[in-house]
Amino acid sequence: MGGEMTYELTTRTPEETHDLGRQLGRRIQSGLTIRLNGDLGSGKTCFVQGLARGLEVPEGYDITSPTYALIHEYTGRIPLYHVDLYRLRGSMDAESIGLWELFDAQGVVAVEWEERLDKSDWPETGLRIELHIEADDKRRIQIIGYGLDSDNLIRETVENWNPR
Ligand code: ADP
Ligand code: MG
Repeated sequence: MGGEMTYELTTRTPEETHDLGRQLGRRIQSGLTIRLNGDLGSGKTCFVQGLARGLEVPEGYDITSPTYALIHEYTGRIPLYHVDLYRLRGSMDAESIGLWELFDAQGVVAVEWEERLDKSDWPETGLRIELHIEADDKRRIQIIGYGLDSDNLIRETVENWNPR
């Protein structure tokens, strides 16, 4: 697929990145895959914590990095699967952790370290988010939507986004 729009914004605190995730999450009405890329400490988990709030995962649930478990599952308005592929060695491993089933399920699948999988392994639609560390507290965030629904979701979120 080509010709996708890239939306870009800057956050200046962790709370702003969290809030961006929350505002995106609030708009999600059906399952999709969200790929998150960025160096360690760029805010991928922070974003997913906000996303969880937007999907109405109850406040009491701690959203922690699934680095060792690979997949954390949360019950919300729509099920949320937080996946960290850092320890994955390839498509064989993806099969064994049940990633393909997750892609087919009706949940929101937020995945850190997308480069652990081949490009062709990903669903054709969904979102990709790139986080860049610009300074201690400053993050440049690019969001790309694949498919019309994903593009609309991002456009609405970015156009209406005003950090608290
Ligand atoms: P990752 O999952 O990408 O490794 P985390 O979300 O676990 O990153 O950690 C991000 C770290 O950066 C946290 O310590 C957070 O407080 C800090 N931080 C500082 N500014 C920001 C920002 N604008 N957005 C997100 N995190 C930020
Ligand atoms: Mg993380």
